[in-house]
Amino acid sequence: MGRVAVPLESLSRLLPGRVLVDPALRDRLGRDASYLSGGAAAVVRPRTVPDLVRLILWARREKIGLVARGGGTSLNGESSGSPSTVSVDFGGWDRIRAVDPSARRARLEPGVVNADLDRALAHLGLFFPPNPGSWQQSTVGGNAATNASGPRSFRYGPTRRWIVGARAVLGTGELLRLGTDALKRSAGPDLLGAFVGSEGTLGWFTELTVALAPRPASRRGLVVPLPARVRLGRLAVRLAGANVPGLSAVEFADRPSARLLGSALGTDPGPGGLLMAELEASHRSSHAEGARRLLRALRAEGVDRRPTWVAEADELWTLRGRAGTQLDAEMGRRIREDVAVPLARLDELVDTLRRIARRSGVPFAVYGHLGEGNVHPNFGIDPASAGGRRLRRAVLLAAHRLGGTVSGEHGIGLVKSSWLNRELGTVAVDLLRSFKRRCDPDGILNPGKLLPTG
Ligand SMILES: Cc1cc2nc3c(=O)[nH]c(=O)nc-3n(C[C@H](O)[C@H](O)[C@H](O)COP(=O)(O)OP(=O)(O)OC[C@H]3O[C@@H](n4cnc5c(N)ncnc54)[C@H](O)[C@@H]3O)c2cc1C
Repeated sequence: MGRVAVPLESLSRLLPGRVLVDPALRDRLGRDASYLSGGAAAVVRPRTVPDLVRLILWARREKIGLVARGGGTSLNGESSGSPSTVSVDFGGWDRIRAVDPSARRARLEPGVVNADLDRALAHLGLFFPPNPGSWQQSTVGGNAATNASGPRSFRYGPTRRWIVGARAVLGTGELLRLGTDALKRSAGPDLLGAFVGSEGTLGWFTELTVALAPRPASRRGLVVPLPARVRLGRLAVRLAGANVPGLSAVEFADRPSARLLGSALGTDPGPGGLLMAELEASHRSSHAEGARRLLRALRAEGVDRRPTWVAEADELWTLRGRAGTQLDAEMGRRIREDVAVPLARLDELVDTLRRIARRSGVPFAVYGHLGEGNVHPNFGIDPASAGGRRLRRAVLLAAHRLGGTVSGEHGIGLVKSSWLNRELGTVAVDLLRSFKRRCDPDGILNPGKLLPTG
């Protein structure tokens, strides 16, 4: 879809009072947390499903791209627009419609922020497990559209596992109900699963039904300095096999990315950085066995410094989420990647990343979800420069060759769409295209995202 003038008058007539053109708002809601400049001809705040259908039919008639936006924390341009698209703000869709504690399910609007959902569920002894580092701003709709993860995905898996139903509007204006209220179903393939991770390119969620987990009575965080020669992959394999009761997260930050976290916790990172873990318990006394086995597994890999305990692990994850902020200040605009490989190949990946950094002579820092083989390498080079593009390519190729993925959790967006053929294969991408054509024949939903052009 080329650069076109957006007929704002007809849009304003269609949804009176819901179309905003204030430049600061367009700038803020037309971009996400990627480095893309983004933009929006207007911001629309639809209030109801009929509003959304009217908007979609208008966009089909006028051939205007619409970009769905939740919390706007995407890192690859998933919710970033352009001056010829319209940003559709789901921020006001923030009601939790019903919670059924006995079925452990909640029905909610897609704009509910992760942290708000967590607060609302606490007194019921339940929680929604995905907890991305952005959880104070990110929405459940955004989590579902990117299949987000978080530290607790080590135990609970990614968002996909927790989305059990949805109502959606397609790019045709048709309404669709996905999933079932029954606790299981064997009638046909998992169509709902195809919408999870589709980055708003097939249809938009107007309601989600999420599964909930019993909330542990306590979650303790543990932070241990890592020695210089630690083999992160070996450590991850050891922890995966150690059968540690209650172990729900295993993260790491190398020394350059652990400074802020270390000083906030009063723990000096070791030469290899810091390891962070979370132990859940239904009764406080039962942390003991988990802690004993965890520390034994760590010692077996040469990690033997005294741990620092954090009484409320959420604090640890909020601090850990700021590793990127520290690097923003120190490195500025940089390559921030999100590759994942099988645990058995993690050491090869980390060695390769360090080699790439050494060869190109750029500052390097890495942190991530150690227990899932998902790392976030950071290289102090402008990703848009020729050198930056070469370096990113080398990183993504390395992950691919090691049997991994170019995105463990952040998604594809605009930045990585050219990698989808390599990642999925051309037959699979072709199938996706046919599905996209049926759901969004005019290509108005999140144009350019996810699927490679051409
Ligand atoms: C500091 C920081 C830390 C992060 N940590 C993590 C992490 O630990 N794990 C992780 O997985 N990610 C992480 N992210 C990336 C990002 O926060 C997640 O992908 C998050 O789930 C995005 O949610 P959002 O509400 O901000 O979505 P947005 O950025 O607003 O949108 C994301 C996608 O969802 C689509 N969308 C929004 N609403 C709807 C809807 N109603 N229907 C259909 N599609 C919709 C958008 O069009 C877009 O394609 C991090 C980002 C930052 C800035």
